[in-house]
Amino acid sequence: QPELWSDDFNDFICKCLIKDFELRPNVLDLLQHVFIKQIIGKERILQKQLIELIDLNQQIGVIEKTRHERIHTRKGSHMKMQTDPDEVDDLATLEVLDEQLQSRYGRDQIYTYVGDILIAVNPFHTMEIYTPQRYFVSAVINIFMKISVSLCVQCVVISGESGAGKTESAHLLVQQLTVLGKANNRTLQEKILLVNSLVEAFGNACTVINDNSSRFGKYLEMKFTCGGTVVGAQISEYLLEKSRVIHQAVGERNFHIFYYIYAGLADRKKLAHYKLSDSKTPKYLCNEHVKLGPDIVSKAFYKEQFDAVEQCFKVIGFTLEELGSVYSTLAAILNSGDIEFSPVASEHQTDKSNISNISVLENVASLLCIRSDELQEALTSHCVVARGETIVRPNTVEKAAEVTDAMSKALYGRLFSWIVNRINSLLQGQMMICNDDKGLNIGILDIFGFENFKKNSFEQLCINIANEQIQFYFNQHIFAWEQDEYLNEEVDARVIEYEDNRPLLDLFLQKPMGMLSLLDEESRFPQATDQTLVEKFEDNLKTKSFWRPKRVDLGFGIHHYAGKVIYNAAGFLAKNRDTLPADIVLLLRSSENELVRKLVTHPLTKTGEHGDTPYHPRETTNMRTQTVASYFRYSLMDLLSKMVAGQPHFVRCIKPNNDRQANKFDREKVLVQLRYTGVLETAKIRRQGYSHRILFANFIKRYYILAFHAHEEPAVTPETCAAILEKAKLENWAMGKTKVFLKYYHVEHLNLMVQQA
Ligand code: ATP
Ligand code: MG
Repeated sequence: QPELWSDDFNDFICKCLIKDFELRPNVLDLLQHVFIKQIIGKERILQKQLIELIDLNQQIGVIEKTRHERIHTRKGSHMKMQTDPDEVDDLATLEVLDEQLQSRYGRDQIYTYVGDILIAVNPFHTMEIYTPQRYFVSAVINIFMKISVSLCVQCVVISGESGAGKTESAHLLVQQLTVLGKANNRTLQEKILLVNSLVEAFGNACTVINDNSSRFGKYLEMKFTCGGTVVGAQISEYLLEKSRVIHQAVGERNFHIFYYIYAGLADRKKLAHYKLSDSKTPKYLCNEHVKLGPDIVSKAFYKEQFDAVEQCFKVIGFTLEELGSVYSTLAAILNSGDIEFSPVASEHQTDKSNISNISVLENVASLLCIRSDELQEALTSHCVVARGETIVRPNTVEKAAEVTDAMSKALYGRLFSWIVNRINSLLQGQMMICNDDKGLNIGILDIFGFENFKKNSFEQLCINIANEQIQFYFNQHIFAWEQDEYLNEEVDARVIEYEDNRPLLDLFLQKPMGMLSLLDEESRFPQATDQTLVEKFEDNLKTKSFWRPKRVDLGFGIHHYAGKVIYNAAGFLAKNRDTLPADIVLLLRSSENELVRKLVTHPLTKTGEHGDTPYHPRETTNMRTQTVASYFRYSLMDLLSKMVAGQPHFVRCIKPNNDRQANKFDREKVLVQLRYTGVLETAKIRRQGYSHRILFANFIKRYYILAFHAHEEPAVTPETCAAILEKAKLENWAMGKTKVFLKYYHVEHLNLMVQQA
């Protein structure tokens, strides 16, 4: 009865709940919030929410217990000054971080806090800790509790170098969150877990460093009801390394899905249907330096993976027709790589090219449902408009091969985006309306780590700029804001020294003289070459972080936060322009296959207004003239705007050795990672800095009893605060202008004294 919901009644209910269920105060707040919003005529929802909340309450009880134990241990270790790393999960309290990480690693304790940062050391073997009963890190619960209680977006940023375990950690996190979020319909829970595997089949590949290396950035948002039940997920992808479709570095492979589909279709005797040959491996899958031999083991493995991917597609809700079109498009890409061009020598035109294996061309055309004569025309010639007249010019062999590769890359990149969008709309359909329109939201960012190879190209530059931006975001959170507070309060901020990488971000992103702008400008000149590009860089980028190494043609060096990288500018302009000739676009738009048509009409370009974050250009990008650099810049800002909207949680994945071996801890390797990611500085700040900053009035209200009589009302002044601290015999605190600066063990000590007073 609505009228029963008076304040008194509300109070009564709350008291009962506290008594019967030992409801925690923060859960109670939440409960009241829910009650007030949902009173009239929604008893059933209310009942459900109530049950959810009581569950949540029990889970929080478990956390509080663990947390209490943690604090207790920490306090014990500090007071007695004997630190037993077995007992301490927060290593900010420990002196030799790498040594302690090593001994914990030896005991399979791979998760460790350093202040607010969670360190995850890759175990390189299966661990038995990830059961629903044993939440693998209290971080998961922390995050979960925060969304439930603070009703705000939480954002988990997982970083680390290639092979450090980011993707694996992201998986585990999603897994645990779906359990905690008790996805009330099992299908939804299953779907969310499958999304990762599906997207990774298309976006991951075997590299020299990692057999399952992510070649794109992924931001997965999980949506929850106000009561903490998971109701959906959305995924955003960033910067897929499309060039891998046509070319792989020494010892590397193409995206997983191509091998899966090849083995899977062969097994079902369907290769011929998709115009693939049983005896000849497509060129795009032949990397001479990788033994891709159709050995039994990998074939069987790939076939299994293919079945799994198909199952994912089906469970998520793709139709059989859509699946068929996806396979056809993949097969068309593989066939395109095998089209061969030969020069046509004629009296007048020596630069013309012809297709020497027409049957392959016909395969591509048939798979894409377009006319083969038109495809031939579009690959071997191009139109130019001169003085209002359209003239058809022939393509050289090189140019024709370039156009073919451009088509393959574009088709794959767009197919990937389409799959991601389709997943989102299928999961959207699942979403229940949350009481609060905004809903609650946990985002998980798994992005490729910093890269430094023997040869570094445009792709590495983009990846490393993205990492530079994420490091900047991390610095802002961990150091800069802390430093500001010290400075405002006129407290000595010398403990907070960190490597500010803002000058580097300026070097890359500033307009109009940053590296990406210069690249775009040069890309607009038809006469420009990669050589003129590096010269332009050299003339304009006057900073110590940029240099031209001697004796490296087209080489330039950048001193990143994570180390020095030498890049080679060969191919930069072409990669940045990434042009897909208009003839090809028009031809694909005429396809009789709906998916193929969608791929070329689907708005690849995301445009729109951006929030007010650093480096947020207010620009709208034009699909036709858009370069990879400008799209990259846009994606980076889009990602950043999502991140800054939430409360961040940092997970730093650490790779303990380069040999992917279990139980091997290379101290030097770990130390380098701890240093450049800022973990060592964080530990230092947590040790030497002031974790608690309390306003004078609050401090006095809480602790005056330690130095004054209960009936006294001491003045709110720094002197009163100092008197209390001196009485408590504490040292090493600092007095700001409005706040007392305390170390965490000061607060624990004060609280203990108040309890005993
Ligand atoms: P990249 O940047 O190349 O995508 P990554 O940081 O995402 O690398 P992962 O693919 O997550 O690295 O991990 C590499 C390998 O390490 C995994 O395939 C797995 O074998 C192992 N690994 C990582 N984390 C764990 C874990 N928690 N338990 C067991 N093995 C793990
Ligand atoms: Mg990965």
